[in-house]
Amino acid sequence: MESTKCLIIGSGPAGYTAAIYTSRAGVNSILIEGLQTGGQLTQTTTIENFPGFPDGIDGFALMDNMRQQALHVGADIRPGLVTSIDLSKRPFVATLDGGGSIEAQTVIVATGASAKYLGLDDEKKYMGMGVSACATCDGFFYRKKVVAVVGGGDTACEEACYLSNLCSKVYMIVRKDHLRASAAMQKRVAERDNIEILFNTNTLGLVGENGVEGARLVRHKGTERQEEFEIAIDGFFLAIGHRPNTDFLAGQLALDDNGYILTQPHTTAASVDGVFAAGDVADPRYRQAVAAAGTGCRAALDAERWLAEQT
Ligand code: NDP
Repeated sequence: MESTKCLIIGSGPAGYTAAIYTSRAGVNSILIEGLQTGGQLTQTTTIENFPGFPDGIDGFALMDNMRQQALHVGADIRPGLVTSIDLSKRPFVATLDGGGSIEAQTVIVATGASAKYLGLDDEKKYMGMGVSACATCDGFFYRKKVVAVVGGGDTACEEACYLSNLCSKVYMIVRKDHLRASAAMQKRVAERDNIEILFNTNTLGLVGENGVEGARLVRHKGTERQEEFEIAIDGFFLAIGHRPNTDFLAGQLALDDNGYILTQPHTTAASVDGVFAAGDVADPRYRQAVAAAGTGCRAALDAERWLAEQT
């Protein structure tokens, strides 16, 4: 079986940064990229808050730069998915989707988080036929059409603004009577004439013959003011947050109530000795690319020091 000193799982800012640090430190390591090479940032447009780019940078380009930088310093980057991992004894053994296995003395988990769905049967029914969790990936298909974005956070506002440039009208379906988003994002939404916010509103289902043609909504659910109504839409975009990608760990690491990996204070060390966590998979609080890159650096340094202590 192939073996490595450090197995890095995930290819977002955390994973690539970890690979840059381990490679430069001469720690033999392998990075397995996962389903979405480059992670969540490849699905956004311009990133204006990653330092070093005065005019902002396209999300895909930023991630490709990180990948190229890691390759340049000698990182061993491979496509594929870690389907399971045995953390019960060292070396740890990771199983890959192709059936192969890798033995690793340390593991850096940098698998990020994935978009959440409401859990409606209609989301599955119309998946790829009007339902999407990524406006920048799919918005193009809805030019001059009417769409709805579910959620009231920064992501929902960002997606609504992005879609408002393409679509004739954008509804925001917000379950509370206010937006959770930052003041700056709320202002951007308020400046768009073609965004209409439906407050106190939840989604009951979707309708349509050959794809989404409308959404069934309820306002003031569970109160005496409750009213059900329908809006005509062509696309239904989810922007209600993310879920950490920790299923493959099968309960072997301590997680918080929402599935985020718990790390020991002031380090990236997870609950199993020799395992480290970086990026959104361990960060319910900040969830920013620059923060993920920072923890990728810390995880690589922690792994390198841990390896040095073993010899
Ligand atoms: P958030 O958790 O901040 O917001 C999720 C939104 O979805 C909330 O409005 C929430 O409603 C709503 N929601 C959650 N579950 C449901 C549900 N079942 N039905 C209906 N609505 C639901 O997630 P985001 O993805 O927006 O943001 C994540 C983090 O990333 C935040 O820290 C954010 O600031 C940051 N971010 C920053 C950006 C920037 O600065 N440019 C861009 C994008 C994200 P409720 O308020 O009622 O809980």
